[in-house]
Amino acid sequence: MSFAATILTLYPEMFPGPLGVSLAGRALERGDWSCETLQIRDFATDKHRTVDDTPAGGGAGMVLKCDVVAAAVDRAVELRPEAPVLAMTPRGAPISQARIRAIADGPGLTLLCGRFEGFDERLFEARPAIEQVSLGDLVLSGGEPAALAILDACIRLLPGVMGAPSSGTEESFENGLLEYPQYTRPQQWEGRTIPEVLRSGDHAKIAAWRQSRSEHDTRLRRPDLWECRSGVRDQPASGARHKD
Ligand code: SAH
Repeated sequence: MSFAATILTLYPEMFPGPLGVSLAGRALERGDWSCETLQIRDFATDKHRTVDDTPAGGGAGMVLKCDVVAAAVDRAVELRPEAPVLAMTPRGAPISQARIRAIADGPGLTLLCGRFEGFDERLFEARPAIEQVSLGDLVLSGGEPAALAILDACIRLLPGVMGAPSSGTEESFENGLLEYPQYTRPQQWEGRTIPEVLRSGDHAKIAAWRQSRSEHDTRLRRPDLWECRSGVRDQPASGARHKD
């Protein structure tokens, strides 16, 4: 059975967009995944097909109406009750590779894309199954690029989509670390040489070098990741919680 993505958006023409080419595009043609959009505006009930209104309490911009968005979400859930529903919002929990892997192992997902100032909060109170996720600490003009990024991350993990099966498991974040640095020919470039150990053919030594560079770079570049990892590693066997 193929991985089914349903996208709720005001701009259905943005999909599959960049996911229609290269690896994901070929997988789409093969039927490894499918992409269906629902136009949020189709769930508006007034004659102007209104999807937004001014923010309660005042302020700039417009807010997506909870009644319209909830009707669109309900329709998506009816179509694919087994798929998790992810709402794109900078107020959500940052999406992680672990969550992506879990979703890619499942039947598909429903992605809800915001616009303007975002969603009426009552949507999330009334539909607690909706997961609020963020792409990171940045603000996009709409949820569509976040949905495309999340979908891309899932698709590359689907069986048969990537060339070598190991390329999915050796990447950054799969073991709580950044990946080690990569090199390829030419051997010499602008006076710089590929590290000797990578040319040694000694697989154990190469693995040890890569592990140590992974740890070194994670500690320097991503102290947040490093702390989580040391937290897990240093946890006493009794299961007592590491301090937050
Ligand atoms: N007023 C909101 C931002 C709205 S941006 C706030 O300050 O939190 C408009 C839409 O873009 C959002 O509804 C959301 O769907 C999308 N978006 C913006 N930044 C995002 C991010 N970091 N992750 C996921 N979606 C994002």
